[in-house]
Amino acid sequence: MTDIKSLTLPELQNLVVEGGFPKFRAAQIRDWLGKGAADFDEMKNLPAALRDFLKTSCYISVATIEKKQVSRYDKTVKYLFAFRDGECVESVLMRYHHGYSICISTQVGCKMGCTFCATGKSGFSRSLTASEMLAQIEAAQRDEQIRISNVVLMGMGEPLDNFDNVVRFLSLAGDEKGLNIGARHITLSTCGIVPRIYDLAALKLQINLAVSLHAPNDEIRSRTMPVAKAYPMERLLKACRDYFEATGRRVTFEYSLIHGVNDSDACARELGQKLRGTHSHVNLIPVNTVEGTGYQKSDRQRQQSFANILAAYGVTATVRRTLGSDIDASCGQLRRKHMKKENEGGI
Ligand code: SAH
Ligand code: SF4
Repeated sequence: MTDIKSLTLPELQNLVVEGGFPKFRAAQIRDWLGKGAADFDEMKNLPAALRDFLKTSCYISVATIEKKQVSRYDKTVKYLFAFRDGECVESVLMRYHHGYSICISTQVGCKMGCTFCATGKSGFSRSLTASEMLAQIEAAQRDEQIRISNVVLMGMGEPLDNFDNVVRFLSLAGDEKGLNIGARHITLSTCGIVPRIYDLAALKLQINLAVSLHAPNDEIRSRTMPVAKAYPMERLLKACRDYFEATGRRVTFEYSLIHGVNDSDACARELGQKLRGTHSHVNLIPVNTVEGTGYQKSDRQRQQSFANILAAYGVTATVRRTLGSDIDASCGQLRRKHMKKENEGGI
């Protein structure tokens, strides 16, 4: 069965022509899919023969709400979505003054094994298709009756470990007849798979790239992020500079402050030295405590001191507030609990 929502318009045209139908039908199908049709029978302006052909050869990918939690503090919504094979991922919908932003998943689980991350701790199941990434956004829009203007690929999974599907998603999300979310409104976060950063740079997309650094050197970084052993920081930072050269888009760095691990003044100074003159921005995020990791977030004073030291090196840093702290909004936590419950139920 063909995953019809992952097809580009030219691919959709090939599909209908090969099925013996006129090419213009493809645009009609695309419009229905863009409107969120979940069933081929909804596509009223298609002849019955074409609908039958589609029913026997294709499926429409949807995300169904398995669980939903709404934060009492800030109305952040966390979804656990299920796909047709029963696999689940998390998405987080956030309300800002300027509109709605959603954090979506790109994989079921993750292979990268970062020690502070709930997703990393629960292993890897499979990558998501482009349509499954779109479906998370569509389902949240439908559920809340809203239009989402910004997307961050910061949910479960490593986007650059699912490169082709993510790039396909980026192009489909911009479709004016569909979600109509342009590249400049999409942020991709990566743990730093250097060769794929170059592949991405070569595409010259206008997306925002965020790199999860979480340490000022390889020694500390490799304690929490195994990927640091494969791609040392020097190569990673060079890739970020080259990315900027190629695309004109500045890279943002994510830095989760973990008490006693990466939050000392010495760490801040070392990071400041390395990022000085790069005009890069650092997002400082107090680490979300994940069961079983033993990590604690740095206190406010430490967060501020870290930011001040970076500022002294000319590196701008923002201490991010954490949204939805009462609903396990750090991705991977809800699914992990859900899986645990299911396992407990099964024993
Ligand atoms: N795999 C990608 C994107 C998904 S993770 C990446 O690693 O960048 C999205 C962000 O959440 C990353 O910056 C990641 O380091 C961070 N993160 C993961 N677990 C966290 C936790 N417990 N507390 C704070 N940030 C966390
Ligand atoms: Fe994967 Fe990102 Fe979690 Fe690391 S932080 S395990 S790369 S999802």
